[in-house]
Amino acid sequence: MIKKLIPSCYYKTINDIPYNKLYENGFRLILTDLDNTLISYLEKEPTLELFNWKKMVEEIGFEIIIVSNSRKERVKNFANSLGLKYVKFAKKPTKLGLKKALRIASHKYALSEVVEIGDQLMTDVYGSRRLGLYTILVKAIDKKTEILPTKINRKLENHFLMKIQKKYPKLYASALVDYVRDKNDN
Ligand SMILES: [Mg+2]
Repeated sequence: MIKKLIPSCYYKTINDIPYNKLYENGFRLILTDLDNTLISYLEKEPTLELFNWKKMVEEIGFEIIIVSNSRKERVKNFANSLGLKYVKFAKKPTKLGLKKALRIASHKYALSEVVEIGDQLMTDVYGSRRLGLYTILVKAIDKKTEILPTKINRKLENHFLMKIQKKYPKLYASALVDYVRDKNDN
């Protein structure tokens, strides 16, 4: 199980991800988490920065779908403002929401064309890796605002990070060491 908690790679923010390189490598669909990946829980509307991100990523040629575990209208409001498809109450780390996103995409993608982006090991990374997707971990935008289930997941995450470091030191060094360095500085 713990190997499926290891992302393909880590970038500090969505703006640090090399989208052109991903596109050159054959990726076409981005399934992204919403809260603390694209925006902080405190934001009520997409920021100008987020509109610019969406425009930049789509201009490269990607389709973007938001896949969020939140049940709130907030997911729909953000997705509609940005003009993106979405799946809310996605139940990550089950495969259900991610599979639903693949069904509602503009056309059928091979799994090898799909990238998932998220800020949590226990939900985003684990769900995505179970489905066999390329998975990018980002640092949570604002950890102080995380809700209780997420705080519990973070405790589990710390436990598993130590296990991963022990059992898969090379993968830890390549995909997680920077994350562990960054994650506690806000
Ligand atoms: Mg999140």
